[in-house]
Amino acid sequence: MTEQQFEEGQAIDIAKYKDKEVSLHPEIFKWRDALTVDLGLMRSLEDGQIQPIVFRLLKDTHELLVGSRRYFHQKLRGVSWEDILKDVRENVTERDALLMAASENIFRVDFNPWEEARAINSLLTKGKISVKDLAKKLGKSQSYISSRRALLQLPKKIRERFEKKDVPIGYASPLMKLEGMEEAQAALLGEIVDGMTRGYSGVRTIEAADEFVTRLKKEIKDKEELLAKYGSCPKCGSKNIARGYRDNQLHCEAEDCDHRWHGETKEPWAYYELKQNAQEMGFEIVEEEPGQLKLTPKQIAEMIERKAEKERQEKEAAEEELPKNFRSKATLLTLLEPMIAGDNIQKLEVRDEKIEIQLIEGMDLYFDGLRKDYADGVSKARIMTAGWGRDDSVKRNHAHVNKMTAVADA
Ligand SMILES: [Zn+2]
Repeated sequence: MTEQQFEEGQAIDIAKYKDKEVSLHPEIFKWRDALTVDLGLMRSLEDGQIQPIVFRLLKDTHELLVGSRRYFHQKLRGVSWEDILKDVRENVTERDALLMAASENIFRVDFNPWEEARAINSLLTKGKISVKDLAKKLGKSQSYISSRRALLQLPKKIRERFEKKDVPIGYASPLMKLEGMEEAQAALLGEIVDGMTRGYSGVRTIEAADEFVTRLKKEIKDKEELLAKYGSCPKCGSKNIARGYRDNQLHCEAEDCDHRWHGETKEPWAYYELKQNAQEMGFEIVEEEPGQLKLTPKQIAEMIERKAEKERQEKEAAEEELPKNFRSKATLLTLLEPMIAGDNIQKLEVRDEKIEIQLIEGMDLYFDGLRKDYADGVSKARIMTAGWGRDDSVKRNHAHVNKMTAVADA
């Protein structure tokens, strides 16, 4: 048998290659990720096996404790049971068996953090060793032992994705802060993987992951408070409620619901708002039953629209009364012409109704609310100026507009 038959990373069929004399330790064998072919290891074994593989002699079998990778790679090479270099030990207790395997592997760099976590967990539970003793025996700190073991508290799906995507182990800590919230953990892990693979989006540092956790926990707390105060969605019963744009407005974030309602009165928001508007405009709203209006919403809406139309007309009439200084019969372009033609323009930008003019000599002008056609049919333009901040700059702007208006009128 030669290595050409195998591919690097290919899974090893344990059942096929194991000698009948050998059994696998039920705990120790679970620590490892699946065994895969390592061609380098196979080549090094060709020069001879230097370290013996450690077995524990049980009643009718040799239980493999240390060196499972070497053992199976020897078997892949076709080495017989007799020719395997072995160290078979008798009278090894369960606890010592676990310790032996763990110290052998944890001191080696090829044990990944997840494998370590499983080994440590076995020793603490099956080996009945205390965290303190184990730390001493492995030459690690107690917090190292505890934090490795804690990795196993992550839900299986999260753990698997974490391992599969080779996420740095440091990210386990922020993930564990979301204990019991698997969806949130999945979301965070997704962001982390994004950050690793894309580089321009997602969470890219452990600090950023911690911030994500803090933000999420605050959101959850806010949501819980909201729920405690207002209760669930009156329409669909979902607990996924959120505050709206207006005071007391709530909305449902459940899929396909999107119900909006008043937090205190529980009335649908549209209905509540209609009632409010009508009241402000002096309409008497009569409810036959709570939530049942005597007037139809359409009738109320029409009344409100008529009233609003009247207000618009009044506002326009008031605008006609605005100081004449800020109106001109000239069109907008005519007004701007002297400025455009002049040498004093640094920048002129027209965006819809907004015009920004920057003059070379330090004066900033900012116009808005332009282009209004008046009822007399004459094309008129009205200019408002808005200075930035200081009163005197506003005054200076007004002075400029007055000057321009005068030029345009002339
Ligand atoms: Zn709902």
